[in-house]
Amino acid sequence: MANQPRIVPKQPRRTESAATAHPLRHAEFLTTAAQWEQLPTGGAPEIAVAGRSNAGKSSAINALAQRARLAYVSKTPGRTQHINLFRLTSGALLADLPGYGYARVPEAMRRHWQHFIARYLAERAPLIGLLVVMDARHPLTDLDRQLLGWFLPSGRPVHVLLTKSDKLGREAQAKVLAQVRDEVKRDYGARADAIGLQLFSSTHATGIAAAETAIADWLGPLSGQATP
Ligand code: GDP
Repeated sequence: MANQPRIVPKQPRRTESAATAHPLRHAEFLTTAAQWEQLPTGGAPEIAVAGRSNAGKSSAINALAQRARLAYVSKTPGRTQHINLFRLTSGALLADLPGYGYARVPEAMRRHWQHFIARYLAERAPLIGLLVVMDARHPLTDLDRQLLGWFLPSGRPVHVLLTKSDKLGREAQAKVLAQVRDEVKRDYGARADAIGLQLFSSTHATGIAAAETAIADWLGPLSGQATP
């Protein structure tokens, strides 16, 4: 059998495992949507990322993508009130939702955005999961709860990154994690099972593997596929 030709896979396996293990790595900016009609229509599965402004959402996206300025686009003037979409190597999309709770946004615009985001979270068909970034020192604010209230009835999963955890000592980290877990159980009952929780730090690059695993689980067999 020594002379038989070796079977070489058409697709390099390296690409496949990279997309599975590090689903956000090498993400690229795709487009920006200010209203429903501007959202992509290709049907690619979508993961949304949301959080209060300044919670550390852009830093978390950049840390997971390993690109220092990827989510910077979401902070450029004129794009802060848009959904910014990134294409993952798996073909899935990452939708970076505008940060909420920014005090200087005029009331009319705030209402417009509340309406758009509420509809997006409740009705966007390709949405397969929601990452919520919360400052570990101020988790589960009223606005975070409002967001969960819009999304959870869809039955789709949530994963919470309690970020800036480097600002807390070990004991405080364990305490906040337990506290948020208890609150989620108390307030969301059966739906709490759909909410994953973890500590995260963009500056210290901690929690990255756990976040990647959660995202890869959502993408499931899609990971590694070069879909359109
Ligand atoms: P966004 O408004 O939610 O996108 O928040 P940013 O990612 O811009 O972060 C807001 C501020 O928090 C910036 O000054 C970041 O440098 C800082 N920050 C973000 N993530 C972390 C973290 O994990 N640890 C620490 N210490 N600071 C962070």
